[in-house]
Amino acid sequence: MTAPPASDPPSTQRSPARGRLGVAIAVVLSTALAAALLWVTQPPPRAEARAGTPLHGGALVAYSPAYRVSFFGIEHLHPFDIAKYDRIAAGLVERGLLAPTDFAVAEPVGDHTLAAVHDPAYLVTLHEAATLGRALELDLPSIVPASTLERRVLDPFQSAVGGTVLAARGARDHGLGINLGGGYHHARPAMGHGFCIYSDVALAIHTLRQEGLEGTILIVDTDAHQGDGSHAFFTDDPTVFSFSMHQGSLFPIPKLAGDLDVPLRAGLDDDGFLWTLEEHLIPLLDQLEPVMVVHVAGADVLVDDPLTGLHLSPKGLVRRDVLVASASREREIPLLHVLAGGYGPSAAKAQEASVAAMLTLMAEAE
Ligand SMILES: [Zn+2]
Repeated sequence: MTAPPASDPPSTQRSPARGRLGVAIAVVLSTALAAALLWVTQPPPRAEARAGTPLHGGALVAYSPAYRVSFFGIEHLHPFDIAKYDRIAAGLVERGLLAPTDFAVAEPVGDHTLAAVHDPAYLVTLHEAATLGRALELDLPSIVPASTLERRVLDPFQSAVGGTVLAARGARDHGLGINLGGGYHHARPAMGHGFCIYSDVALAIHTLRQEGLEGTILIVDTDAHQGDGSHAFFTDDPTVFSFSMHQGSLFPIPKLAGDLDVPLRAGLDDDGFLWTLEEHLIPLLDQLEPVMVVHVAGADVLVDDPLTGLHLSPKGLVRRDVLVASASREREIPLLHVLAGGYGPSAAKAQEASVAAMLTLMAEAE
């Protein structure tokens, strides 16, 4: 007696359904391959470095299309909106406030320059996908070569850090310097987290110090998250006062103590936020008499931000930024303004309106 087979013998003939499935898989794979080839062969956006043109009234605006992080499309799955800076720059040009050639454009700053403020061993680890992916909360495949990470992820951040350095010089030389990027306020000397790997503000302050700027510098951080990175950089530096007002229940937890921390409750609206800011900012300006104010002006305070719980309107965000700019201007204190986080639906338009309002304020005050 012959035992029955455990299962049917495999058919040597393909069914029509399996054939169609095979064709569909082949089409998907070849499309993915074509997209990958296109991505690999297309160079990341670049722009020639240039000093930029100070605007009427004394303002320099730094921006480059090279700030745009692109990583095989997975950046689109991330709350980091890669096109925000481009949209703000285009909006300012459309408003006639400046020409495309007026923007100051920086080269990527490079690890050697960053090592003036960051731990060199930490900078080396950022060339590895695992470390970089953790800091940026991007799931970067570990097989990605370092050269690809450098071109697609590190260079854009290093270009934006260079933009903050140019904007800081612009602030010192003309009164107001704005970088349409930067504000990576979670980056610490030997650690990156919260989408931040380099501290553009720490490098900009270091650069100005090297170039002879003395006196107190006041950091005013009004992003919805605490500026723990700025606190970490300047905790032992009595010449930099690090002030952060932020939603108390958000990342980072635990917080790192700064010179002044003002935790805010979720749901705080325009009037409550602006009253709190003014209550703390004006005495700081008058008591510290800083030689520069650095405003880390995140847009994640907006009511439609998906990651936070503050309830500022777009008009409230403009009022916040104009409050810091006009209070600094009245006291003839140069202001460096960086955009920091915030990628909700109204973030780009609100920040465009705020930059436009600050540029108009400078021009009118002349
Ligand atoms: Zn934030």
